[in-house]
Amino acid sequence: MSVDGRLPRIAFIGSGVMAEAMIRGLLRDNLIDPQDIIASGPRPERGQELRSRYGVRATVHNPEAAAEAEIVVLSVKPQVIPRVLPELRGHIRPQALVFSIAAGVRIATLREGLGVSAIIRAMPNTPAQIGQGVTVWTATEEVTPRQREQAILLMRAMGEEVYVDDERYLDMATALTGTGPAYVFLFMEAMVDAGVHLGFSRRVAEQLVYQTVIGSALYARQSGLHLAALRNQVTSPGGTTAEALYHLEKGGFRTVISRAIWAAYVRSRQLG
Ligand code: NAD
Repeated sequence: MSVDGRLPRIAFIGSGVMAEAMIRGLLRDNLIDPQDIIASGPRPERGQELRSRYGVRATVHNPEAAAEAEIVVLSVKPQVIPRVLPELRGHIRPQALVFSIAAGVRIATLREGLGVSAIIRAMPNTPAQIGQGVTVWTATEEVTPRQREQAILLMRAMGEEVYVDDERYLDMATALTGTGPAYVFLFMEAMVDAGVHLGFSRRVAEQLVYQTVIGSALYARQSGLHLAALRNQVTSPGGTTAEALYHLEKGGFRTVISRAIWAAYVRSRQLG
């Protein structure tokens, strides 16, 4: 952090959805001056959009942006990484931190491609866009305690952060939390459709399902009880919940979820 506890200059290489989530959170929490943020990307109109929306600086020249920054965020799609690394090589300051959110891109690839060693690899998820994400991250030994603190501020701008001491947990996080919102959305969509099937209007069904999911998640966390105990609370003998749970288990609900997440993990390792 700079002397006043705020973040030093940050360059975003790739200024899409996730970069904007971070920019929004950083400015919301007043962690950085907008002029200390440089958003880089190939489309000038996107740069203009971010400039007028947040007052940040924008460029189409990745190496220029990186050369000015103490934190270089790699927020391009993984398939763009092989093009971006040689472009940035030699332009990142020797003391700078590289913070990558590119899914499946290994630290070794970044180290070799960029010729730098202070690297954090992180896996955020899309609720970051409203500051409710969770980011799983790991760091190389060369990342200083100060850089860790700065990275934590950057991640808290997106929600919660969880440190792991081994990169292999990043593939697991990809399958569980990076992809996780999609499972929850699918489950919610199925519940809304079921509500409509019962006879609710879609608008009412959505309201009921959103609040049921939000309320259940907050209750589970605050109560500190085991999820099975919470489930048993709503399961009376011979009742409606028992009937529904029987059909969910019969349909393989639990194993389908487990298999799906395992398959996402295997896929993540294949891509990396
Ligand atoms: P996005 O497509 O919204 O943003 C990528 C940006 O990179 C675009 O604005 C694009 O114009 C720009 N770009 C393309 N080529 C470039 C180049 N050569 N140099 C600089 N910029 C270039 O993608 P996103 O959803 O913001 O994802 C960014 C990264 O975050 C990805 O690596 C993804 O794996 C990771 N991630 C995303 C999520 C998610 O749920 N969206 C979750 C975890 C991790």
